[in-house]
Amino acid sequence: MLVAFLLLLSLILICVGFFIYILFQKKQLNKLLSQKSFLFKVIDLNPNYIYAKDQYGRYSLINQSYAQLVGRNIQDIIGKTDEELKAEIVANGKTIHEGVLLKTLPETVFIKEELLTDFVGEKMWVQTVKVPIQVKHHNKVLAVSTNITERKQFEDEIKHQANHDALTGLPNRRMFNTDLANDLETAKIEAGTLAVLLFDIDRFKYINDMLGHDAGDELLVQVSQRLTDLMKHCHPHAKIYRLGGDEFTVLLPNYNGAQSEAFAKDLLELFEESFLIADSENVISPSIGISLYPDDGQDANYLMKHADTAMYYIKANGKRNYQIFTPIMQQHFYRKLMIEKQLRTALTEGEFELYYQPIVDLASNEFFGMESLIRWNNQVLGHVPPDEFIPIAEETGMIVAIGQWILETALGQHVLWQQQFNKKLKINVNVSVRQLLETTFFDMVKMTIERSGVEPTYIALEITESIAMYEESMIEKLYAVKQLGVQLSMDDFGTGYSSLSYLNKYPLDALKIDKSFVKGVIENEENKAIIKTIIAIAKQLELTVVAEGVEEQAVYKFLANIGCDYAQGYYISRPLPATEFNNI
Ligand code: C2E
Ligand code: CA
Ligand code: CA
Repeated sequence: MLVAFLLLLSLILICVGFFIYILFQKKQLNKLLSQKSFLFKVIDLNPNYIYAKDQYGRYSLINQSYAQLVGRNIQDIIGKTDEELKAEIVANGKTIHEGVLLKTLPETVFIKEELLTDFVGEKMWVQTVKVPIQVKHHNKVLAVSTNITERKQFEDEIKHQANHDALTGLPNRRMFNTDLANDLETAKIEAGTLAVLLFDIDRFKYINDMLGHDAGDELLVQVSQRLTDLMKHCHPHAKIYRLGGDEFTVLLPNYNGAQSEAFAKDLLELFEESFLIADSENVISPSIGISLYPDDGQDANYLMKHADTAMYYIKANGKRNYQIFTPIMQQHFYRKLMIEKQLRTALTEGEFELYYQPIVDLASNEFFGMESLIRWNNQVLGHVPPDEFIPIAEETGMIVAIGQWILETALGQHVLWQQQFNKKLKINVNVSVRQLLETTFFDMVKMTIERSGVEPTYIALEITESIAMYEESMIEKLYAVKQLGVQLSMDDFGTGYSSLSYLNKYPLDALKIDKSFVKGVIENEENKAIIKTIIAIAKQLELTVVAEGVEEQAVYKFLANIGCDYAQGYYISRPLPATEFNNI
């Protein structure tokens, strides 16, 4: 009885226990179920794109966002591969996302940026994290993609900014370097050609100085617009870059010499029409240098250097033109570098000397003055003519110090001759524009004259027509110098800006007719007419006239007959060292 009671009790206890156990289990299950549905909800409502695929690429899980991206219901997607979906959707005339095709399952977690196209064809960047998972012994991959389009756009913008010039919007030097390296690589692999074209705008500095930086910027923008149009319409494979300042480059993949020349001609033509800047029409031109791969250089460095050399060659030879590099230019370039180097020490080494060439009064046939002409005898280069080194001295600014030495020396010589021959000759000293531009020029002239003790009326400074480029500021400066009592003479008259209109703007005393009109004038009716006209105008403006380059007696006589005031030239005397004038 007791046993039966105990058995019953145990049975009751087991039942109760089991009941409690069942109750507990159900609660757990409910909890699990609610957790699972919560998780699904989280997945489903997640704005990121979430999907899982099996090893055959079939979708086993997908959330709302992803279904929307694909443009189908979740149920239509589950169990299918991307290819199957694509086929279905394309058949319905719609596009579909790309890029998430899964060929092999990843072994570890990996993160990738992908470009997707949604079913309406819109592109978006996503960052996808793929995680390998095992569900009931099946290998799957779970992927979560985040839309990073905005960040990508921002990155692209930064990249664009880093590779483009803010003013013109053209690709910049950085991009040029990258593209040049890539194009060279391609040309090497394909045994092709590549032309590198480099150009800048002649006298850009003048525009900037005269019309202001805004006008300079405006010009650069207009130039780049014309270039971009040219590329679009005639040279679709050409690529243009702004290197900085007024320097532009063009890469011409697969262009040979003749094709590059044709391009350069098209480029020059772009400048035929004037540019409207700051309400004025400006005629502007480029100087273009070209180098070719493989002929002119095997690497980027040489190609650029040689294009640069060719460009400088054009600059030194008349501008507004193009030139393909030749090795002769390189010699020219190295010589220039050498001159520049040697010039730096020429003053301290005492390598300069002044020669003097007499100027004769055509009425009295007597010496009237002397023009000082510099000579340079360098220990390495030997004798270098002034036509060759003066432009380099100007370019580098060394002319400022050299110019001061010239003035001091010439005035010192004037004093010596005065003591020696008891005769006051006019002393003509050449002054380059670069010197005039120097803010210290006026003070330097004033001090040098004062120190020398020379009467300023015996000094004539020879300036050239290139000052016409710097109108207003230059006029003021010249008037100031005139106030010191020195004379001003316009050198090489007729060769430069050939406009007579500016003559009365400057406080001039004399004109020097350039030797190109004077030489051989007897046989040249046109030059005769020019010389006569210059003399007539000069008389009207109360300027005296000096003819330079007088090499024959006939020319000397002709000049005297038509009323030219003074003459200078080999017929009278070559330029000579001061010591060679025994009697003046
Ligand atoms: P420039 O001022 O026109 O000087 C006249 C040039 O013509 C000189 O050349 C002179 O030697 C040359 N010449 C003189 N008579 C005759 C002639 O009858 N026939 C020919 N064919 N030539 C003649 P140079 O001395 O070689 O000077 C060349 C240029 O270099 C000068 O032209 C001037 O622009 C510049 N230069 C010379 N010395 C100086 C200087 O001290 N300072 C500056 N800034 N420039 C100078
Ligand atoms: Ca001169
Ligand atoms: Ca001259």
